[in-house]
Amino acid sequence: MAQTHMETLLIHGGVDGDATTGSVNVPIYQTSTYAQDALGQHRGWEYSRTGNPTRFALEKLIADLEGGTHGYAFGSGMAAITAVLSLFRSGDRILMSENVYGGSFRVLDKVFRNFGITWSIVDTTDTEKVKAALKEDVRAILIESPANPLLTVTDIAAVSDIAREKGVITIVDNTFMTPYLQRPLALGADIVVHSATKYLGGHSDLVAGLVVVKDEALAERLAFIQNATGGVLGPFDSFLLIRGIKTLGVRMDRHAENTQKIAHALRETEGVKQIWYPGFADAQGHEVHMRQAGSGGAMISLELEDDYDVRTFFTAIRVFTLAESLGGVESLACHPATMTHASIPEDIRQRVGITDGLIRLSVGLENAEDLIADLKQAIAKSRR
Ligand SMILES: *Cc1c(COP(=O)(O)O)cnc(C)c1O
Repeated sequence: MAQTHMETLLIHGGVDGDATTGSVNVPIYQTSTYAQDALGQHRGWEYSRTGNPTRFALEKLIADLEGGTHGYAFGSGMAAITAVLSLFRSGDRILMSENVYGGSFRVLDKVFRNFGITWSIVDTTDTEKVKAALKEDVRAILIESPANPLLTVTDIAAVSDIAREKGVITIVDNTFMTPYLQRPLALGADIVVHSATKYLGGHSDLVAGLVVVKDEALAERLAFIQNATGGVLGPFDSFLLIRGIKTLGVRMDRHAENTQKIAHALRETEGVKQIWYPGFADAQGHEVHMRQAGSGGAMISLELEDDYDVRTFFTAIRVFTLAESLGGVESLACHPATMTHASIPEDIRQRVGITDGLIRLSVGLENAEDLIADLKQAIAKSRR
């Protein structure tokens, strides 16, 4: 379905229904193994770690949506990122954006470093700094745009260009935007990763990760790693994810609409010191963001004035829920310094601006007026 519009692909991409029965949905093939017709003769399926038809439908779907050739589904976003990092070997260096997801930093620093893979952090919003950081031993650069939690924007096309010249692989964590809003492979990236736990699933009812590539050699190596290391997504969660993706377009549109209203309302709210939202015309990287993505997205971070107490804010919210994660139908608020980014050492946190007063909002699909009223009352109560 190469020329089809995104809205249609979301519903009919990948494997469309079931040819045998006419079922409009791909069945949940809840099986570990498959009967073989004779020795060495099977019908394309041997064992569900290697391949499962429900998971395959999801993998083909995400490949179609991202404009790639091959997709891979994993048991979590971190399992997906771990599989991608398993492409590298001892002596290789991975560059990552400032503000990269805390878990991505942690797996590099605490797991892959034990195997001799090193990392450096670079401010990827500045392409000159990226150029300077691409030393001999760098094999890949991991970027997020907008990045978590200060929503800093990186020019994906520019960084991919610089990296390709040096033979460095560009990996984009596209969790915050989804292929509905941003398609990194078309911008020149080599690998897209997702925590599908977030917007792709969309209902806070599953944990999953996805990888997409468009290069045959990378595809073969990733298929090997997926089967060899085995962190695959189960058939039921694959089904749930396909189900969630069908409504991605309408959800992302409403998420973005609500977020824009809330961001503007917060700007006029007493007690709000600063707001980070890439949809603001004066936000860092706004022009680049609007060039490479379809909307400002649905994440806002904010800081309250010094005479406000964030602890009170988190107990005063009623419609927003204090919780980790993002991208579900329900609005969530979190405290990056002690929650999502707690695994990043304090000195790095301070340097990249993840302060103790920072609040991150994932705007859901509730009524925007209700959400604004909830934030206003919680902020007012937080005044010391
Ligand atoms: C949540 C998240 C991850 C990790 O995904 P899990 O599904 O929780 O393992 C990675 N990157 C980003 C940007 C995330 O928000």
